[in-house]
Amino acid sequence: MPFLLEECDITDAVADTRAALLVPCGFCPAVSFAVQTGRPYLEPIRHGFRTPVYEEHVRKLKTELEARGLKVRRFDWWSPHQLVVCMWTDARRTALARQAAEHDVVVVIGCDAARKMIEDCLAGAGVRVVQAMRMEGLMDVVPVLEFPCRLSLKMGALTRVLEPAAAAPVAAPESRIGAQSVQT
Ligand code: SF4
Repeated sequence: MPFLLEECDITDAVADTRAALLVPCGFCPAVSFAVQTGRPYLEPIRHGFRTPVYEEHVRKLKTELEARGLKVRRFDWWSPHQLVVCMWTDARRTALARQAAEHDVVVVIGCDAARKMIEDCLAGAGVRVVQAMRMEGLMDVVPVLEFPCRLSLKMGALTRVLEPAAAAPVAAPESRIGAQSVQT
């Protein structure tokens, strides 16, 4: 099940930087924008295997950063498997580290785990890692196939992600996923 992610304001986090590498995760953010806007997740005939509303968001973020004077590049490593899973191969990690070295900030459009993985990839490189999305919870998503070739998504229950301070002091890391369910 994908994470529901909400956009964060990263203005302060990138304030003193000059070159940013955008790293958009291919699944949960795309699902999040699709369910929140009611727009299609996939419409291959018109848009290929990219989610139009998510692509618009990534382009908007790039434009906003450029308007603040940053040089912005997108780390694009597209393959169909990233529509549904988020495993990073060694080759992809190496490519990221190489491109990130030419920037002073990496902007992760993805979950906390994506940010942590990227921080680990770039450990010791002196590149700041900023997360542009906040995790709200895990979504139960129902796919709806529409004629002639469009995949839309409907969000069912949302299981909230608790902040560490709200979790029990002795809780194991995985218990950050709270038991609170929200019907939408
Ligand atoms: S890395 Fe995180 S945001 Fe990206 S697909 Fe995996 S769980 Fe979702």
